[in-house]
Amino acid sequence: MLSVTEARTAILNMVRPLPAVTMDAIAALGLFLAEDVTSDIDSPPYDKALMDGYAVRAADLASGSGAFHVIEEITAGRTPQQTVREGQTARIMTGAPVPAGADAVVPVELSQMMPDSTVRLNAEQVRPGMNVLPLGQEMRKGDVVLATGAVLRPQEVGILATVGRTTVQVIPAPTVCVLSTGDEVVEPSRTPGPGQIRNGNGPMLVAQVQQAGGLPRFLGIARDEPEHLRSLITEGLETDVLVLSGGVSAGKLDLVPGTLQELGVKAQFHKVKMKPGKPLLFGTRPRAHGGETLVFGLPGNPVSSLVCFELFVRPALRALRGDRAPGPHTLQAQLTEDFSYRTDRPTYHPARIEAALEDRGWTVRAVPWFGSADLRALARANALLIVPPGDHQYRSGQGATVLPLDGR
Ligand code: AMP
Ligand code: MG
Repeated sequence: MLSVTEARTAILNMVRPLPAVTMDAIAALGLFLAEDVTSDIDSPPYDKALMDGYAVRAADLASGSGAFHVIEEITAGRTPQQTVREGQTARIMTGAPVPAGADAVVPVELSQMMPDSTVRLNAEQVRPGMNVLPLGQEMRKGDVVLATGAVLRPQEVGILATVGRTTVQVIPAPTVCVLSTGDEVVEPSRTPGPGQIRNGNGPMLVAQVQQAGGLPRFLGIARDEPEHLRSLITEGLETDVLVLSGGVSAGKLDLVPGTLQELGVKAQFHKVKMKPGKPLLFGTRPRAHGGETLVFGLPGNPVSSLVCFELFVRPALRALRGDRAPGPHTLQAQLTEDFSYRTDRPTYHPARIEAALEDRGWTVRAVPWFGSADLRALARANALLIVPPGDHQYRSGQGATVLPLDGR
């Protein structure tokens, strides 16, 4: 049986980022860049004032103060008309070009207006370059300002606009079909009859796909019956990823593995050394237009489904989207309560993390949990505490590894 790490490596080895598309730059928020973006300008395009004040020659203020003749006023968007010479200054506003001759800006707070266009400046230690952003300091024409693989956050969207890019090449969101299975599973809008349960996993997995940056499509609930299962799985194999829940264990009506095999899905592995989620199945099937459909058969118990999605499906979706560090990213936290736990497999236990006081990292405590059917425990949790196999008597204050459930 594969370990969690081996299983994830097997999955990520099968994943290639989807082919790039050209998109409107604002609509591409959250997607990963598929090109190097270069600047078509120098920025700033001139030596730029960083404060409202007076543009001077720093050498003129060597004594710390002096009276200056104001020769003009330069607001942002205007071009200076005159050169600042010894004993002269120009009133200047933030963002405006520093005039020729001047090499520093004295803040307006250090000035005192006098009669006859004269200003008194009281500023110690004025050095050349003070409060001036030199031409091209932020970027030069031809610089790569955003590199392939960067995720587009608001600041990257701003940089695209700054260099005149209204469209951009990015990796699109993968399409993901979600299929619930089980004769006992009914639509959430229905009142369950004897022996029935509502389909909690379908909406939960659709939500996880959406949160992970995929485009979910819910295919419905397949009955534990070969014909129905086959027709819905066939539909799901048309997309980048198919996520099924239920029917992958060793029960009499666990028809998913056999049906997938019949439909040409090659099982890469079935079962992982972990709790919950051991029966996980991962397979691939070549697509008509190239690439492979990734198929995840998640165990039907809700916590197993959710945990398997976090450990395996989310990283796969991130890799398809072009993320070179698809995670999951764990962190170290300090237990705030004693915790005893015995397990024969690495266990992902619902837990609650909080930022510790005074920036001292994170604290964690396990939340009560009744096993893989107890989804309610996850509503109290915001992380999974990773417990290695063994008989553990953890003490408050001890360190532990946790996987945050923060949607990243
Ligand atoms: P299975 O993996 O099909 O053997 O299902 C394991 C357990 O998960 C059973 O108790 C199922 O009733 C439950 N289960 C399966 N599918 C769902 C679902 N879509 N929503 C909630 N529970 C489910
Ligand atoms: Mg079932």
